[in-house]
Amino acid sequence: MFRSKETTMQSSVSVMVYSLSGLDQLTEENVAAAMAVVEETGLSRILVTDSSGRVLYDTRETGGAVGDYVLYAEIVQALMGNDAFTCVYKNGAFRSRATSPVLYQNQIIGSVYAYEYDTEQAALISGLQDNLLRLSAVIAVVVLALSLILSRALTIKISELLTAIRKVREGAYSHRAEIHGRDEIAQIGEEFNSLTDRLQVTENARRRFVSDASHELKTPLAAIRLLTDSILQTDNIDPETTREFVMDIGQEAERLSRITEDLLRLTRLDSGVLEPPVVVDVLPVLEQVMRMMSLIAQEKGVDLTYDAAEGCTVLATKDEIHQVIYNLTDNAVKYSSAGGFVQVSLGAEGSQVVLTVVDNGAGIPEADLPRIFERFYRVDKARSRAAGGTGLGLSIVSDTVKKRGGTVTAANRPEGGAVFTVHWPKAEGGERA
Ligand code: ADP
Repeated sequence: MFRSKETTMQSSVSVMVYSLSGLDQLTEENVAAAMAVVEETGLSRILVTDSSGRVLYDTRETGGAVGDYVLYAEIVQALMGNDAFTCVYKNGAFRSRATSPVLYQNQIIGSVYAYEYDTEQAALISGLQDNLLRLSAVIAVVVLALSLILSRALTIKISELLTAIRKVREGAYSHRAEIHGRDEIAQIGEEFNSLTDRLQVTENARRRFVSDASHELKTPLAAIRLLTDSILQTDNIDPETTREFVMDIGQEAERLSRITEDLLRLTRLDSGVLEPPVVVDVLPVLEQVMRMMSLIAQEKGVDLTYDAAEGCTVLATKDEIHQVIYNLTDNAVKYSSAGGFVQVSLGAEGSQVVLTVVDNGAGIPEADLPRIFERFYRVDKARSRAAGGTGLGLSIVSDTVKKRGGTVTAANRPEGGAVFTVHWPKAEGGERA
């Protein structure tokens, strides 16, 4: 706007300067005569001064300054030979001033000063300003309303999530966060729900474990109580019976200590604290277990044999390998009948070390196969108890093997009997145990 004013005003001033350009010196009369032919320009005021700044011509009808010296900054500029232009927008009006020197043979003989007071274009600008202001107000209101709606929706979801977190913290593991939508909060809600699902599974397993464990511990304790009561309450009990009862008490106590030992072992496995692994050569460990088990097998009339390859090394600890081979062989002998056989073999298959324990006992009913690695799971409770089982042996095997990156599977042989197979990743080189 300022630039267009500058152009129009400067061209008006140029027209006037041009009409004065033929004069060798400016007087009131010749200026008035020259200005009379200049077209109506719509300017508010036009001043023509001589070279000293004295006004020779003024368009203002009342209070004209003809004869006075007017030294506006713009006029001073013009008398120094420069064109000048200023424009100010204030109080709803443009005030523009333009001046140019009047020259005669390169001599400054005066100046033309034009002043314009424009409210029309200013009104246009202020109308534009008002519209912008209204538009901004509308946008602000819409943004405010939208952010209120959005933040409300967000708050509802967050408070739903918070309620769910509180409920689950208080133990209501079945509570689920009901958050609809596909935004990040809904995703957090879904993640929270799946976390709670896992928590519930773990919590259920923990409860079952605690109740199974206390049940298992209660049974031998109750037997011990019963036996001691019988001894104490029976008058004139003969020494032979007392001896039998005390032997039974001893057996129950042994069972208790076996269960607690197994429980402690499982708790250690659960805690996730693992002894640093070393490269263990499985063969010597296997031979040690076989020496120990052969006596038990012999006693039971079970034929225990093994064949083993050399160079089967595993990253674990000696104790762990011992425990796995012992538990599997012990089960195989335990669940075989007199006259049966148990075969243990050790070998390497590619990058794996494979241990199989085969027997020709009763085998495991197909329906029970997927569950025998669960804690306290037993196919035949009475038989397991009678054989001195705790129901924890296979879970210890499974946890121990898994912790070192291996797998263990159970199956039945078509000819009858069970076969347990352990795969460990084979260890190459390193420190030997
Ligand atoms: P337990 O102390 O009762 O032997 P385990 O965890 O070692 O507990 O075994 C779980 C169950 O799996 C046993 O009670 C038994 O029913 C079954 N089982 C394990 N090994 C064999 C096997 N070699 N033959 C038949 N059944 C077996």
